[in-house]
Amino acid sequence: MTDTPSPAGRAPGAPLVVLTDVNKHFGDLHVLQDINLTVHEGEVVVVIGPSGSGKSTLCRTINRLETYESGTITIDGQDLPQEGKALARLRADVGMVFQSFNLFSHKTILENVTLGPIKVRGLKPKEAEKQAMALLERVGVAHQAKKYPAQLSGGQQQRVAIARSLAMEPRVMLFDEPTSALDPEMINEVLDVMVSLAKSGMTMIVVTHEMGFARKAADRVVFMSDGAIVEENTPEEFFTNPQSPRAKDFLGKIL
Ligand code: ADP
Ligand code: MG
Repeated sequence: MTDTPSPAGRAPGAPLVVLTDVNKHFGDLHVLQDINLTVHEGEVVVVIGPSGSGKSTLCRTINRLETYESGTITIDGQDLPQEGKALARLRADVGMVFQSFNLFSHKTILENVTLGPIKVRGLKPKEAEKQAMALLERVGVAHQAKKYPAQLSGGQQQRVAIARSLAMEPRVMLFDEPTSALDPEMINEVLDVMVSLAKSGMTMIVVTHEMGFARKAADRVVFMSDGAIVEENTPEEFFTNPQSPRAKDFLGKIL
């Protein structure tokens, strides 16, 4: 760790998410192999790699949607709680946006965003609504607040999903291929929201193959293959000068 500002122009903060020697299996499959990863406050890390390399499992493990067998994962120095209220609070600290938007289909856009803050953070409905409207404004869908998810485009729904996560005031946001289910013309409206979130100083771990996003917003690219982190570098170096044969092979296929 040096004091040099990152390529994205930010000075590095304190370690926020720290994985140390994390291992996980699905039966015989060693899906996470000795994962060591430190994400600092305000840092944006893009995780890239072939399908099946363990990127989603990594995100889900950080958020405790999956268990792991050995190693440690800490958020701001705290070990991850196994269950109960402490786990609910941890989940609130770690926001997650999935490929499929996962909005509650029978609730309005506004209700989707206010539900968590009312239930988990104990906000009064009026306060929650005020905060939700500000967030919907920020992601550009405030005028849709009274509608239901099915009435919105995929890009709009994904922006609502981002607002819903932000309403929990997370310390770190995980994005798992947030644009890969979207029609091409909607990808940029979601990436633009993510770039602006990155610029606002949010700590982010983003699984994506969108090189434009990585170049614009990422401090670091982490390349995963077969359950292991094979290579880590600045976006510029990673995309123009990959070191490992597996990264070269992968980039040769996607670029
Ligand atoms: P990626 O997100 O990089 O495509 P995943 O983390 O989804 O990779 O999957 C990594 C590997 O783990 C794949 O081989 C996948 O089939 C396997 N896997 C993922 N989830 C499960 C599960 N719940 N049970 C068994 N195997 C799984
Ligand atoms: Mg995945």
